[in-house]
Amino acid sequence: MRKLAFTLLAGLCALPLAAQVTDWKTATKYNKNTAKEQLTKRFTHYVTFDTQSAENDKTPSTPGQLKLAKELVKELKKYGAQNVQLDKNGFVTALIPATSGRQAPTVAFIAHMDTALEASGQNVKPQVHKDYRGGDIVINAEQKMTINPQNSPQLARAYGHDIITASGGTLLGADDKTGIAVIMTLVQYLYDHPDFQHGPVKIAFTPDEETGLGIEHFNVPAFGADYAYTLDGSDWGELTNETFTAKAFKAVFTGNRAVHPGSAMNSAFADNILMGSDFHTLLPRQNRPETTSGRRGYIYVDTFNTQGDTTTVSGIVRAFTDEEMDALLAQINQAFQTVQSMHYKGKATLEITDQYRNFLEKIPPQQIALAQQAMRMEDIPPVLHAARGGTDGSTLSFMGLPTPDLFAGQFNMHSEREYADVDVMEGSLRTALRLVELWGVQSK
Ligand SMILES: [Zn+2]
Repeated sequence: MRKLAFTLLAGLCALPLAAQVTDWKTATKYNKNTAKEQLTKRFTHYVTFDTQSAENDKTPSTPGQLKLAKELVKELKKYGAQNVQLDKNGFVTALIPATSGRQAPTVAFIAHMDTALEASGQNVKPQVHKDYRGGDIVINAEQKMTINPQNSPQLARAYGHDIITASGGTLLGADDKTGIAVIMTLVQYLYDHPDFQHGPVKIAFTPDEETGLGIEHFNVPAFGADYAYTLDGSDWGELTNETFTAKAFKAVFTGNRAVHPGSAMNSAFADNILMGSDFHTLLPRQNRPETTSGRRGYIYVDTFNTQGDTTTVSGIVRAFTDEEMDALLAQINQAFQTVQSMHYKGKATLEITDQYRNFLEKIPPQQIALAQQAMRMEDIPPVLHAARGGTDGSTLSFMGLPTPDLFAGQFNMHSEREYADVDVMEGSLRTALRLVELWGVQSK
């Protein structure tokens, strides 16, 4: 009797459950080790391309980015992507057609091809350190260059992970070739598993993120995605839905130093260098880059330049809210007016210009909620993050394509101690695959 009841119950439950199963992971027999192998192989290949960007007026700024772009075009075609294009500015775009009959929104994944300007990207020799057991990872024995949980705190959470470093003298390029490797592995996964039910997915690989000059050349209407995520973040669960609002300022002080200093008193003499340094000194110490963190903004003078009678002091202002931005601008204005009143014989001008805006208001809550849900389904606790800098996603969001950023497993970016954590990359891949699944059942 008891046995019979159990069987009946199981039989009753089986039907509706089976009908509801849309889980890609079970349906496609996802294998973590295979994914890690593919990620490692791709990533170590991509970092051998020197794609360091440069500050000039070309897009892409360096030919190395085009070489990688052509390689990615080939690979996208190999794994069945459609409309694969490389435009004159070096943007690679592609479509993975929907497999389900639903009218789902088009979701896109984006990563940048260039690497930072702070260290060389030439002859990168990646080293794979399998199954990290704590302590030092030697990048270069001769230079005594190591990473460990003291100089790279996130390594404390990487026990058992595969870590990839460079070999000294170059950066690795984890920023953002981890993102490219995750996206391309996703493309292959969808190709290898045509039974994965999803809506249209778009891919873009972009140039010149590090200079901030590439993304404005992206043809957003032609790309035709409804929602996008950049894969350019760091540790487990990181989900960036905010950046600073950014402005620049330029104060120009004009003096009169043609008077002989011996007879300067009671003359038209005015010291523009003193005006500039007074202005700098009067800016608040409690709102400097090195005295602020978290959600507090700052004022930073990055150029102090004198030519004859003209001293130019320019810098940047960063804040997450309009209220804080207004308060910081008021402090700059106050310092400026004080200098004007102290040095009445000199002349002064102050100019404030917009750079970029916090894109929080441009991201639909549903887009963040789905990313959080995708992570939770993979047992990855989401961590909302406000970036203390700009992202391509912020620019894209104001160009009409809402684009928060997701973690991709890159660490110590922009330095020779840069590393990639293959296990975190694998978590990023699962999150992206979940997002493909979740967006596939949303209404357009
Ligand atoms: Zn990046």
